[in-house]
Amino acid sequence: RYPFDVESIRAEFPILKRHVGGDATTPGEGPGDETPLVYLDNAATTHTPEPVVETIADYYRGYNANVHRGIHQLSQEASVAYEEAHDRVAEFVGAEGREEIVFTKNTTEAENLVAYAWGLRELGPEDNVVLTEMEHHSSLVTWQQIGKRTGAEVRFIAVEEDGTLDMDHAAECIDDATAMVSAVHVSNALATINPVRELADLAHDHDAYVFVDGAQSVPTRPVDVDDLGADFLAFSAHKMCGPTGIGALYGREEILDAMGPFNYGGDMIRRVSYEETTFEDLPWKFEAGTPSIAQGIAFAAAIDFVEDIGMENVRAHEDLLAAYAYDRLSEFDDVTIYGPPGDRRGGLVSFNVDGVHAHDLSSILNDFGVAIRAGDHCTQPLHDKLGVSSTARASFYVYNTLEEIDTLVEAIDEARELFA
Ligand code: PMP
Repeated sequence: RYPFDVESIRAEFPILKRHVGGDATTPGEGPGDETPLVYLDNAATTHTPEPVVETIADYYRGYNANVHRGIHQLSQEASVAYEEAHDRVAEFVGAEGREEIVFTKNTTEAENLVAYAWGLRELGPEDNVVLTEMEHHSSLVTWQQIGKRTGAEVRFIAVEEDGTLDMDHAAECIDDATAMVSAVHVSNALATINPVRELADLAHDHDAYVFVDGAQSVPTRPVDVDDLGADFLAFSAHKMCGPTGIGALYGREEILDAMGPFNYGGDMIRRVSYEETTFEDLPWKFEAGTPSIAQGIAFAAAIDFVEDIGMENVRAHEDLLAAYAYDRLSEFDDVTIYGPPGDRRGGLVSFNVDGVHAHDLSSILNDFGVAIRAGDHCTQPLHDKLGVSSTARASFYVYNTLEEIDTLVEAIDEARELFA
């Protein structure tokens, strides 16, 4: 029933054998140790499989050194691995090569990089930037603040009742004054899969750039920058079995090349005098200072891990679990599910139970060992529009099972009874 052997995948994640419960004051132990963990908070962060943990340990045990500037052997080994990790990421999303892949701290930093290095320099009061109403704060707040500083107008494509984008409104928003269209590919709040290609075509018809927030899409389905029509694409390793502290910005080479730097300092320069500085080639021009070396190398290992499963299989697994969760939650008439039904959903379900605050629900589920997220999921304006302060969100990844969703549903049922 699964597209791959989920049990053998689970075996690669020691953390999934954990129990939770009691007073969680000892990180990693959980003194209660009562209930098996059911981890359904993957849209926030995923777990790290043994091969990725080993990659990090191998680096620190075997060839830890600073990159680029050393001639000694360890530095050469670290440099090769770190640089080749860019090639691996490039190949993964269909970029031309490492010139088009800048390692950042995360998706958020990738958004800020473009907003500061491009937006702050290029935008003015005559321009507009078009976002969607379902943007994550990482793009919404960033472009909003760049708008305030440059005078550029920030427009929002409306979200319809059913959680999809109003594409007629998109066509109205995007005009000849549009300089950038930034859209989330898969919404972390509604699960909506947005028609990014259509938005990109609209944007390119008006000579605007397209930035795709791939934080939830790149980990969960095959993504190719040419198919999307993306000029920029951002994503985080920690949402796809990689470590925290590393993410990537894809940018089309000619655009990145024409952009000035983001941060200044060591590693991003070619020649410095007291008066002037020339900058390094791509992508290093955008990677100032000592980078996250182990994390970058482990990012490539995480890609190996998910590609061994196969991105089509990852998508099929996400679809299977999300559809099952959607159907089972639909059985309750006092549960509201947000976002579109059917084939326009990614692998998560946001919902509320009548009369139960999402935080209370999450806390009760925690007693059952079930980890979900409750809150606004960094989409406060969208939640204002939905008329709720918070939603509960269950999100799935390659190691989750249908039985875990049964546990989720049983726990929700108990919570309903408790509050009835
Ligand atoms: N965009 C989306 C759609 C996300 O789900 C997230 C993470 N919740 C981000 C951006 C930000 O990712 P990060 O925290 O890794 O920068």
